[in-house]
Amino acid sequence: MVTTDPILPGATLGVLGSGQLGRMFAIAARQLGYRVHVYSPETDTPAGQVGDVEVAAPYEDLDRVRAFAREVNVVTFEFENVPSATSRACAEIVPVRPDGEVLHVTQHRLREKTFLASRGFPVTPFRAIRSESDLRSAISSLGLPGVLKTASFGYDGKGQQKVRHEDELAAAAAALNGAEGIYEAFVDFEKEVSVVAARTLTGEFAAFPVFENTHVNHILDVTFAPAAIDPRQAREAEELARGILDMLPVVGLLTVEMFVTRSGKLLVNELAPRTHNSGHLTLNACPTSQFEQQLRAVCGLPLGATRMEQPAAMANLLGDLWLAAGGVPRWEAALRDPNVKLHLYGKATPRRGRKMGHLTAGGATVEEAVRRVTTARARLTGNS
Ligand code: AMP
Repeated sequence: MVTTDPILPGATLGVLGSGQLGRMFAIAARQLGYRVHVYSPETDTPAGQVGDVEVAAPYEDLDRVRAFAREVNVVTFEFENVPSATSRACAEIVPVRPDGEVLHVTQHRLREKTFLASRGFPVTPFRAIRSESDLRSAISSLGLPGVLKTASFGYDGKGQQKVRHEDELAAAAAALNGAEGIYEAFVDFEKEVSVVAARTLTGEFAAFPVFENTHVNHILDVTFAPAAIDPRQAREAEELARGILDMLPVVGLLTVEMFVTRSGKLLVNELAPRTHNSGHLTLNACPTSQFEQQLRAVCGLPLGATRMEQPAAMANLLGDLWLAAGGVPRWEAALRDPNVKLHLYGKATPRRGRKMGHLTAGGATVEEAVRRVTTARARLTGNS
């Protein structure tokens, strides 16, 4: 369905997916006076706890999906691995933003990289892999080391393996288990950055300042902004994001993850058609958070200001902290620094690697902001 009328406060927004990104979106939406309905297979979810209505049904149950869509004015998502049929069923009834085509491209690494490369966006060389012999020829043309990834359903390094030597080739191909894969030349990057950007129906575009990301065990650990890159690179990163959002085209919000190589080149690694973990610091550091920006973009409202009021940092809180603390982490110890803000997602069961919450802080410099969130996090499990 195509409509250019803005969807105004008081309307009802539908969210596919029910994790923390949906929760923070729902909080932003409620602040502006919208109602929120959440759809996912689970109950008592991070987003469902905050939304007005939580529908718990499989994504494949298209009758339930259509019934959900009939109750809302627009559908967006916080999780891109929703089947295409689900977003198509919604689109028969209400606008879906970003639309199913954006979802289709970005939920499959091979389609995504092919899209980017064919439009001239810089990506690391890659090949499609459907068999061991495909992998053998990809390695002979792109070389070693490389990374073999499943084309679908990968995140936080899941479904990914580094291939260092020829003798690892057979095992790597076997681990794909018949699934479609993508082999990429390994990028010896200097740093990883991301650009979270929004685009409206009328083509208005706004990007947040470039975020710099550090990972532990393939999971985002700490983000700070502005990234420690030169202004020319920052402009180039923003222009890449603008080009990608225009080209897809996106109505809503999209995150572009990039590598900065040792020679200073930017390569696009991955797209996420939604808000992103690296954008959480916008909650406290920018006039408009990434969640409010997503809302403005999908509702056809003017975009909000994305500047940073001061340097800022974010540290993730994984379930590992509960295990290290032998129970509930010491929240009061983290909050002893009055500059630190605590965000928890309402998840009942901490598990290793599970994102349970995050800390944010501002500072006079990024170093100070990073120090604040990391020392506060250390106090959660320590004695100081
Ligand atoms: P992805 O799921 O594609 O975002 O990959 C997760 C992480 O694995 C990235 O943030 C990088 O740290 C690393 N990685 C992925 N692809 C490559 C690559 N081609 N070369 C080097 N590191 C990579």
